[in-house]
Amino acid sequence: MTDVDKYLLEKLSSDNICKTKKIMGVFIDELYCYITKEIINTKSITYFIEKILEEEPIEKIIISESVDDDIQTLLVNYLTKNKVKFLFTDDYDEETGAYMVFVAKSGIQRKEMEYKTDIPYKYLDHIGNSLCKNCYKEIEKINADYAKRFKKPSLFKAKECIVCKDTKENKEDFYL
Ligand SMILES: [Zn+2]
Repeated sequence: MTDVDKYLLEKLSSDNICKTKKIMGVFIDELYCYITKEIINTKSITYFIEKILEEEPIEKIIISESVDDDIQTLLVNYLTKNKVKFLFTDDYDEETGAYMVFVAKSGIQRKEMEYKTDIPYKYLDHIGNSLCKNCYKEIEKINADYAKRFKKPSLFKAKECIVCKDTKENKEDFYL
């Protein structure tokens, strides 16, 4: 082993690698997790923030200005109301796709930092709406807590389901 190898081995021990890598201007060992554009740009984002805040004390949230305008408004209202520190930046992370990062109160290191959800994408933008029986059953099975954020299916208005409508429209677009 040469001196250079030795130097690199010492300098690039995992601790130091973490110290040098940043996502949206934050060292990765200060991050609890990050969220990608696809999840942020849906109305369910406040639901996910709520879940993260339940899991870990968060110092602040950094949000990319590239996030959709209506979602930015939603976030500002939600975070202000819940007294969560946040700031906007013109940055985002190309490599990870991060558009929002959660800075932890205490330093933590973990490998998996991307916030992932098993909730199907078609539900994410329709939180708070009423669903048909089938959709309600489906989402209740996947995540009962998330299902509670929707209105329960009404017996009299069985056909009004925004998720079904959206899925159908997308399919029609696809076949055009
Ligand atoms: Zn439906």
